This record gives sequence, C-alpha cells and structure tokens, in this order.
Amino acid sequence: MDSYTFEVTDLKQWAYCPRVVYYRYCLPDVRPVTTLMATGIASHQDEGAREERRSLRPYGLTEGERAFDLTLHSAQLGVRGRLDLAIAVPTRAAPRAEAVVVEYKDSERAAGTHFKLQLAAYALLLEEAWGLPVRRGFFYAIPTRQVEPVTITAALRRKVVQTVHALRTAVVGEQMPEAPESRRPCVSCEFRRFCNDVV
Ligand code: SF4
Repeated sequence: MDSYTFEVTDLKQWAYCPRVVYYRYCLPDVRPVTTLMATGIASHQDEGAREERRSLRPYGLTEGERAFDLTLHSAQLGVRGRLDLAIAVPTRAAPRAEAVVVEYKDSERAAGTHFKLQLAAYALLLEEAWGLPVRRGFFYAIPTRQVEPVTITAALRRKVVQTVHALRTAVVGEQMPEAPESRRPCVSCEFRRFCNDVV
C-alpha cells in the first residue's frame, strides 16, 4: 500500500491534462502559486460569505442544513478535498434524508466533464462522511449567479474510481502519462519546459 492521498482537484486536473498531476507529485516544489490561482481562492472565500445570506431556493430546496468549507477525506478512496457547500436535506420522514454538494466556479461557461468529475468525487466523499445518499449537486457560477444542476450518475461514480486508479498507477509507478490530444492546454501551462516531446 502506498501513502499517497490525492486531492479532489487532482481528478479535475487529470481529466484536463494528466501530466500536470504527474509533475505535481513526481517533481515537487516546481509549481508556483500563480496570481490567477490566488485570485480564485479569494473569490471562493468571498462567495462563501455571501452564500450564508442566500436562501436555498436556487437549489430547488425549501429547507436544509448547510455546512461551508467542509474538509472531507476518504481513506478507502485515498482522496481528500474541501467542498464549498454541503446541504443536508430533510423529508417528512427524516431530518437528514439526503445530501447535496455545491461547488462555486469563477467561470460562466457550462461545466465541462472535468468539473463534473470533481463534483462527483465530492459526492462520494460526502456520502462516506455523512452516511447519506448524494444523488445530485450544483455548480454556482459566481459571475452570473446562475446555478447548474448535475446528476451524480453511476457512470460518473465509476469514472471517479477509475481516475483515482489511473492517477495512483502513474504517480506510484512514476510512469509519465500521455499528453492530451489537444495542445490548447499547453499554451499557458507552467510545465511546458518539461514537455519537450509535445511542445
Ligand atoms: S505542456 Fe501540455 S502536455 Fe505538458 S503538462 Fe502542460 S498541458 Fe500537459
């Protein structure tokens, strides 16, 4: 058994370009925190403060118990992360019948596959932490204040497990993954200097 615990954000990054995750773990200390990353962290924190004053209506809920900036960890999956918002939803029969995951994003574009994979990973972690089913989640777009629903499907759940397995195989075995087919992510990538075979 290896000692790696991966971040939920690694799964999103893996879907975008697996090599970035590989470099992060296998070439530690080379990745700077860019201004863009620092700005993203700050805007998420601001949004959390606003969210506390908002109703649950955008999520189609009338009642729910909210938990912000929730630190989650699954020893079984080997993944940890910090979820922007979790909501425990009651029914007439139970005060906590299901849970919902919410992530804020700084983009107004519809969530791509990599974002959905990230949300599904949080869903699995929250299910384990709270012992409640998580069947749905939402992205809250900060620029437009619009909510995008996402169903946590069986296929998404499988994809989370498969991605963690692929990630672990690459990092533990120090096997550099293939570059993505598209070279668009390479244009502004801070790891360009390590990818002489493709850029
Ligand atoms: S340069 Fe391209 S292939 Fe290499 S890590 Fe960056 S995005 Fe991935």
